[in-house]
Amino acid sequence: MSKRNHKIAAIGGDGIGVEVVDACLEVLHALADKDGGFSFAVENFDWSTERYKRTGEFMPADGADQLRAFDAILFGAVGAPDVPDHLTLWGLRLSICQPLDQYANVRPTRVLPGIQSPLRHVNDGELDWVIVRENSEGEYAGQGGRSHPGLPLEVATDVSIFTRAGIERIMRFAFKLAQSRPRKLLTVVTKSNAQRHGMVLWDQIAAEVAKEFPDVTWDKMLVDAMTVRMTMDPASLDTIVATNLHADILSDLAAGLSGSIGVAPTANLNPEREAPSMFEPIHGSAFDITGKGTANPVATFWTAAMMLEHLDEKPAADRLMSAIETITANPDLHTPDLGGNATTRMVTDAVIEAVRGRN
Ligand code: ATP
Ligand code: MG
Repeated sequence: MSKRNHKIAAIGGDGIGVEVVDACLEVLHALADKDGGFSFAVENFDWSTERYKRTGEFMPADGADQLRAFDAILFGAVGAPDVPDHLTLWGLRLSICQPLDQYANVRPTRVLPGIQSPLRHVNDGELDWVIVRENSEGEYAGQGGRSHPGLPLEVATDVSIFTRAGIERIMRFAFKLAQSRPRKLLTVVTKSNAQRHGMVLWDQIAAEVAKEFPDVTWDKMLVDAMTVRMTMDPASLDTIVATNLHADILSDLAAGLSGSIGVAPTANLNPEREAPSMFEPIHGSAFDITGKGTANPVATFWTAAMMLEHLDEKPAADRLMSAIETITANPDLHTPDLGGNATTRMVTDAVIEAVRGRN
């Protein structure tokens, strides 16, 4: 049988993004060597804020099209303290996610073994969620504008766009995901008491799509009440679906509750596989720790496990996930964000050793 070769586009980006992606590529190659059935052909792209400062562009105009030739994209982080965040977000991440129609943003959250959640009453296994974020429209559709700069009647609008097609596809994705998990439990989050158009449509479509999934138990929550439930009763939740803005905020809360933003992964999926999906840690470029060698690479390793699963390399994904859990269980391998003294290098070496060690 011939070896499966996966073409990976690696975009480290800025700051610690480059450090954690480099570490992750080492782990991926070690996994491929161990397994023997597959390999990776990696191409590195220097698309970043640093490139923007040099050339005026975060990535080439045909950047998203260049990425279509790959099976998956591994992304670090983009951003720098001296460039406004909305430029970086639109200049790179959204310019990839939108043309490649990565409409489902999936964010698993778990308190990994050995890591203490700031919620003291939560033990291992009691916080195990996956948040599905609508990633193509809603509040981040980019519609709106500004007029009358500097005058008292200066106006700025951000218009949210909710389409039936957009809501139906994310809802169906979320129900399907909930159905694939042991508890078959979905919570649909909106703000339909105050936002009476798009959010009401969202509720309505949830009820419609639910009929296709009679074995999934589902409920509705308003986003404000949801933050209370996440902190007070985390074990009552499993799969969660919310809009672009709401899920953005809820998943940062979730990352905090899992112990550190340094362990929180995400995947921007094109579920129909009509274009490559993109895998990244939730955290940003973190210039405060860049170059110190102390960035926690676990979030990027975890997103690589999601990538392997998406590439149909499930045994390798499982091997990597269990290596990650071995490492987090050992406090000597905790980086400073988890209260330890370990370095990116130490964690990477330990994960490589763990993936090589098992049969
Ligand atoms: P950006 O502007 O790109 O979002 P940021 O510095 O504003 O970057 P984050 O990088 O998301 O924000 O992180 C906030 C803080 O969390 C950082 O200042 C850093 O100290 C810490 N942090 C983030 N990621 C990690 C990581 N992988 N390992 C350790 N600490 C991290
Ligand atoms: Mg930031």
